[in-house]
Amino acid sequence: MTNLLRPEISTLAEYRLTQYPHRIKLNQNENPYELPLEIKEEVLRKLAAARWSRYPAFVPQEQIARVASFARWRSDGTLLGNGSNELLQLIFTCVLERGKSVIISQPTFTLYKILARSLGATVVDVPMTPTFEFDVTMIVSAARASGADLVVLCSPNNPTGSCLTREQVVRILEGTKGLVVLDEAYVQFAGETQVELLRKYDRLIILQTFSKAMAAAGLRFGYALGAPELMKQLDKVKLPYNVNIFTLTAVETFIERWHDIKWWIGRLVAERERVRGELDRIDQLRVYPSGANFLLFESLKKSPAEVFASLAGKGILIRDVSSYPMLSRGLRVTIGTPDENDEFLKAIREAV
Ligand code: PMP
Repeated sequence: MTNLLRPEISTLAEYRLTQYPHRIKLNQNENPYELPLEIKEEVLRKLAAARWSRYPAFVPQEQIARVASFARWRSDGTLLGNGSNELLQLIFTCVLERGKSVIISQPTFTLYKILARSLGATVVDVPMTPTFEFDVTMIVSAARASGADLVVLCSPNNPTGSCLTREQVVRILEGTKGLVVLDEAYVQFAGETQVELLRKYDRLIILQTFSKAMAAAGLRFGYALGAPELMKQLDKVKLPYNVNIFTLTAVETFIERWHDIKWWIGRLVAERERVRGELDRIDQLRVYPSGANFLLFESLKKSPAEVFASLAGKGILIRDVSSYPMLSRGLRVTIGTPDENDEFLKAIREAV
């Protein structure tokens, strides 16, 4: 029966995540804070009054306008998605097929490669530098050599935390001809978005999400920002009603109440720097700078699997990223609340 599927599918590696029992969850780059109950109740009141029997608006214009203004981009260049993953799939579907190639800086978010492979495209991996900086020169030359149709960049990058500067993004845009997708899932923890570049470069698409800084991973909401003409084309392939009324309603409230909840970001960034300082003092580890809400570190003595198991035994879940390219000693920890981070630090000192 599986021979009825395209060959690209049966040879594809699975995107899998095993969940172990835990007390402290620092394995998926989620935000540890929760929307205050009073704000959740405001969303629920609006939902109680809505008609669930009806489809959402064919084009949810009001919510698009709010998201666009939140992102400081134009409404007609904004597409809403059921998570930014859905929009990645949409863009890849519109660009890639057998015979087309995509440049992916590695190590990075695994889904890019899975999506590209599933479409039969050729994936050209470009390794980061040994200290996990983007190798811009290699990205540009690989894109030129392969005549790449797509360049995928993730900044801050998952799982390394590395960031691209504006000047580096410009070098990539100026040096290549294909579409450039910049995944800014973690951008609020780094500070600088590259949305400004959309004014000049109509081959750039920026993806952002409510799953990280906005602490709404369970709602599934992301958006793509780009040139109106390009977005209009992508919109033809986007599934109708892809964002449900629960999410659309919550998104409006999140944006309205943003000033009440954005303290999360400053707290998480301060904690990231504190945790990094503490990890840096442990001789058996090497920790890397990060612009995101997580830290990449290498275990120099024990294997990542041993360190992971030791923490999991204490109910603390982090991510073993040792199967990623270049990361054979790698682990990734999401920044939690100060108490969670303290527990993690105590456990990691015992584990290494
Ligand atoms: N992009 C990157 C780089 C991510 O790490 C993640 C979360 N794992 C996503 C996108 C997924 O975002 P969403 O929840 O909006 O689909």
